[in-house]
This record gives sequence, structure tokens and C-alpha cells, in this order.
Amino acid sequence: MTERYDTAVEQWRSAAAPKRHVRGLLKAMAAGIERCMYCEDSQGTDIDHFQPIAHDPLRAFDWLNHLLACSHCNSNTKGRKYPCDDAGACLLIDPTTEDPAAHLVLYLASGEYEGITPKGMATIDVFKLNRPTLVRGRRAAFVTAKNLLWGWYEHRQAGRTDEAEEIVEAISESPFSAVVRAIMTLPTPVARTVMGAGTLPAMDEWRRHMAAVPSPRTGPGE
Ligand SMILES: [Zn+2]
Repeated sequence: MTERYDTAVEQWRSAAAPKRHVRGLLKAMAAGIERCMYCEDSQGTDIDHFQPIAHDPLRAFDWLNHLLACSHCNSNTKGRKYPCDDAGACLLIDPTTEDPAAHLVLYLASGEYEGITPKGMATIDVFKLNRPTLVRGRRAAFVTAKNLLWGWYEHRQAGRTDEAEEIVEAISESPFSAVVRAIMTLPTPVARTVMGAGTLPAMDEWRRHMAAVPSPRTGPGE
């Protein structure tokens, strides 16, 4: 195992061209402007092995095991952590195959995540998703998104399509993309309280508009 690990690490370290290619693909797929797929805040600069090489050297070059991470998330918080339950199943949410919303609730007003499953709780713990800078950033992103949504709807109503599209682009390039996703999946009674009753038509219009936009590719060659 140690020999296999050493070989995998050495091969990965010297694979400059494949890593450049993978990093380019991941950056194109990442939300916002090349944001880290874990914190959604900092620039993703590293290729993280979701299942660490130390845990399974054979997955060093597995595309589905590669995620774009900032160096803080990759080195300082996650590192080689890969918690598993008693049956050996990974306890981290894999964003390439799972919907984080099934395990995590984002409270928009406070900016904090709550884990609603063991996986959600372990993910918050390993990635330190409630660290103060992220919580503050999500709170600010919520206020910004709410106001941008208002502006977008007003432009749409007035037929100012260029201005409306400018806002769509600004939102899609903003960090903390989970905040907008959380806004758009609020149940109506909660949205009425959190967003204000007047915003509900804007939210409906946004959902209709985004449903008509083709989704980004999900992997190499697709
Ligand atoms: Zn990060």
C-alpha cells in the first residue's frame, strides 16, 4: 500500500500537462469566477482529491475524484480527512453525485449551514463551512442577491433586456452561488417572510427565465 501510495503521489506530482488540462476543465465548470467548490468564496487554485490519494492511490487520476478547491480548503481544512461510517461509506457530501440540499440547510438571514443528516454534519465539520468569514460572506451575498433580483425584475418589466441580462451575468459570477440556489428553493410561505411578499413575482419570473437557459456541461467531453 505504501509503495502504491508513493508511486501515485510521484506520478501525480510530475503530471504537469494533465493537471493543467483538468484544472482548466474544473475552472470552467466551477460556479462564480473559478470559485472553490467547497467554500464557494475563494479562487479555486488546487485540484483536490475528494478521496485522498492516501485513502485510495488508484483514484489519483480519476476525473470524478477531482474537485477545484482553494488552497485554504484543500490544505488547511480538508487535508487528508475522509471520514467514513461503520459500513465504510464516505461521510462527506460528494458534490459531483449528490445534492447538498438533501443534507444541508442554509439559513439565509444568518448565513449559517445546519447539517440535517450525519453526512451534512460531517461535511460542515471537515470543511469548516461555518467559519466566520464564510458566514459573513453569505449574509452579504444574500442582501446583494435580494436587491439584484429586485433590479432585474424591474428591468424585465420595463423591457430593458440588456440591463436585465447584465444582472443575470453579475449574479452568475458572484461567489456563494448556494445563496441564490437557496433563495430560489424557498417554500412560498418562508419566501414571503424572508424575501418580502413583493419579491415573490420576481422569484417566479427568475425561475422561469433560468429554466429556459441551457445548463453548463458536467464533465469532460460532454
Ligand atoms: Zn475554499
